[in-house]
Amino acid sequence: MRLATELVQLGVGYDSKTGAISTPIYQSATFRHPALGQSTGFDYSRTGNHTRQVLEEGLAGLEGGCRALAFASGMAAITAVLCLFRPGDHLLVSEDLYGGTYRLLNQVAVPWGLEFSLVDTTDLAGLAASIRNNTKGIFLETPTNPLMKITDIAAVVALARRRGLLTIVDNTFMTPYLQRPLELGADLVVHSATKYLGGHNDVVMGVAIAAREDLSERLAFFQNTIGAIPGPQDCWLVIRGLKTLAVRLEQAQASALELARWLAGHPLVTRVYYPGLPDHPGHEICKKQASGFGAMLSFEVKDAALVEQVLRRLKIISFAESLGGVESLITFPERQTHAEIPAGMRLKLGINDRLLRLSVGLEDLNDLKADLEQALAC
Ligand SMILES: *Cc1c(COP(=O)(O)O)cnc(C)c1O
Repeated sequence: MRLATELVQLGVGYDSKTGAISTPIYQSATFRHPALGQSTGFDYSRTGNHTRQVLEEGLAGLEGGCRALAFASGMAAITAVLCLFRPGDHLLVSEDLYGGTYRLLNQVAVPWGLEFSLVDTTDLAGLAASIRNNTKGIFLETPTNPLMKITDIAAVVALARRRGLLTIVDNTFMTPYLQRPLELGADLVVHSATKYLGGHNDVVMGVAIAAREDLSERLAFFQNTIGAIPGPQDCWLVIRGLKTLAVRLEQAQASALELARWLAGHPLVTRVYYPGLPDHPGHEICKKQASGFGAMLSFEVKDAALVEQVLRRLKIISFAESLGGVESLITFPERQTHAEIPAGMRLKLGINDRLLRLSVGLEDLNDLKADLEQALAC
């Protein structure tokens, strides 16, 4: 099956008793045992639930992994992945990464004894030079958030394998429809399923997918032991969201490319970050390792005062955190998603008071363009 078919067929045929096309929501906390020493395969819903199982098996297949584990949020999935490491271990992390991941590392993982360094994962020589004796893993986002930097996943994997490190990719921005890091050799993929996988701005969820059985078993242990699991209703919403992932992404990324081109020519826009533009430094690598450029873009306006005006005037595009849903959303990373990152670091990266991040949704392209046009007009 090709990916679009696999997505649509997710869960079809699971309920052989009734033949339900839509996966039933098994709203049960616990399951009756037929007799002592026997189980239907389901005992208690923290450990396993049918609706969650359909979602997890589907995601494992889509990412080409051994097993997928669903969590209550993207942050819970990343927490479970961090549990694979021990006090004293050191991680190398993409420098302009999601602010929540930075906060988790800095304020939770470090007090527990983990060490980490922020590095530019697009610079392989610099990455190799940052490896220490206690380095155990490389955690990267590609494209990064919000500057859309592209890291060569296969090249990082080659380096990581030589030095015995795990490679973890946060694939939230691309989804398995466009990019499959495990096929490029990564060991683990994490997602905020809140974004494209759910796709409708109506559910918060996360997922971790492991390439190998040993990592899968440990993640499943953490999922059950820590207990940050999603409920069956939310799993059903993400199953439904996944069915349209292919068409949603195809349309959203076509609109994103058009908007990126248009913004690049706008007199009040000084810079556009979108990997689909040929002059983006990561354009060729993105083309090589992904089947599209995604629907996220960032742009810098001419002066800081314009930011306030744009956010106030936009009518169709909502000023709201999050991304990847059918509705277009715009955020101001400096004050929102990346407020946790120290100011000096933010400025060095280019996350300044003129930068806006746009998640292109499924509204008509001309309406989106007109909305931005009237918001930017002097
Ligand atoms: C949103 C997001 C997260 C966190 O996921 P939640 O579902 O909000 O907990 C992690 N990584 C990236 C890239 C994100 O966009």
